[in-house]
Amino acid sequence: MLVGDATHSDIARCSRYAPDICRDRYLVWLSKYNYVPLILLAALLLVVGGLPFFLWGIFFRATIGLHATWMVNSLTHFWGTRRFATRDDSRNNWFVALLSFGEGWHNNHHAFPTSARHGLAWYELDVSWIGIRLLQMLGLARHVRSVGIETRFNRAEEDSLTN
Ligand SMILES: [Zn+2]
Repeated sequence: MLVGDATHSDIARCSRYAPDICRDRYLVWLSKYNYVPLILLAALLLVVGGLPFFLWGIFFRATIGLHATWMVNSLTHFWGTRRFATRDDSRNNWFVALLSFGEGWHNNHHAFPTSARHGLAWYELDVSWIGIRLLQMLGLARHVRSVGIETRFNRAEEDSLTN
């Protein structure tokens, strides 16, 4: 896992798909030496809080993060509600959305796959979208695609009429 495709550190291949990212020296360094920040964090946690901080901050965090990510493409295709009549079995699942910072609004994502915003209703907490909006306000993110209010309601209305 430290070498090869799993690290996505093949800059030549990356340049074909994301040339702007591959020109950024910091991102290229981070991709090549992705283990350095993790080792620094692990050392810091060991110094500050000993073995418990190390175990919770490195291994428990990674375990929860990976399971939450995998739940998005497994649980949200079995359990939850369907707002949009997509051609798949995707569902919105609030529990997965909480663990995955909003990715659990998976039926919304399948209905609008290019939208950065997954939580479309006010009660659908989407922490990732809040972060993206903050980055936009700071001028650090541009050209962000999201579904507009009109699109959401027109699409929901169309879906309810066809069902
Ligand atoms: Zn899916």
